[in-house]
Amino acid sequence: MCPYSAIERGEDRKAVVNAVLCKGCGTCVATCPELAIDIHHYSNEQLYQQAIALIKNGGGA
Ligand code: SF4
Repeated sequence: MCPYSAIERGEDRKAVVNAVLCKGCGTCVATCPELAIDIHHYSNEQLYQQAIALIKNGGGA
């Protein structure tokens, strides 16, 4: 699914993201059927906590 071909197979045959090629688009996160991928600093839990903080602060900056 990666439009930048950033996902490769490591020596142990497991998928590995090439950080040089990855653009952080999130396609792999949205399409992984096993929910096995997170983008650094944008895990589901981190996004959830950001949304909660935004709601608690009334949406202002
Ligand atoms: S976030 Fe995922 S799909 Fe997007 S470039 Fe990086 S590895 Fe590829």
